[in-house]
This record gives sequence, C-alpha cells and structure tokens, in this order.
Amino acid sequence: MATTNCESRLESLASGVLAEGMVMRRLRISVDQNKCVGSTTCLHTARATFALDESSKSSVVNSQGDSEGVVLEAAEGCPVGAITVEDAETGEKLFP
Ligand code: SF4
Repeated sequence: MATTNCESRLESLASGVLAEGMVMRRLRISVDQNKCVGSTTCLHTARATFALDESSKSSVVNSQGDSEGVVLEAAEGCPVGAITVEDAETGEKLFP
C-alpha cells in the first residue's frame, strides 16, 4: 500500500530523519548526576543519546543521536527530573 507524502513526512519526523531542506536544531542536553538514580528510563526512550556510566548514572553520549521529540520524551519521562534540554544556539530552554 502506497503512503501519501504527508504520511511519509510524518514517518520521517518520527524517526528523526527530516525532509530535504529542513535543518534539525542542535540541542544541549544535560543530566544532573546528583539527581539521577539510574532508572534507565531515558536510555530506553532515547537509545542513541544516553548511556549509563561506570557509576550507573546516565550521561549524554551523543546529543544528536535521536530526534528532538524523542529527547524531549526521554526528559519528560525521567522520574526525578534530572534531564534538561536547551537549544544549543539560542540557549532557549526546551525542558523543563
Ligand atoms: S531517566 Fe532520569 S533517573 Fe533514570 S537514568 Fe535517565 S536521567 Fe537517570
């Protein structure tokens, strides 16, 4: 079954691949190591962005590993509010 242009674009956005001509903004993602309890929730949501370090705390391994939507979903899902997300260019706070 063929997909429409709209469906195709939505699928691309959901997977973090943007349509031609669109630019994905760079994010500054931080994990407060004093708050992180190592629940791994963020790792399961944004698999390419976060990893546990040797002290079982989450850290950012690739700030461009996942789409903005996925990173924000991971930040929102953190049970202790340890993740902050900003626009790396403007400093605009995206979460919380
Ligand atoms: S979801 Fe929050 S508490 Fe859990 S590992 Fe990630 S940063 Fe740490």
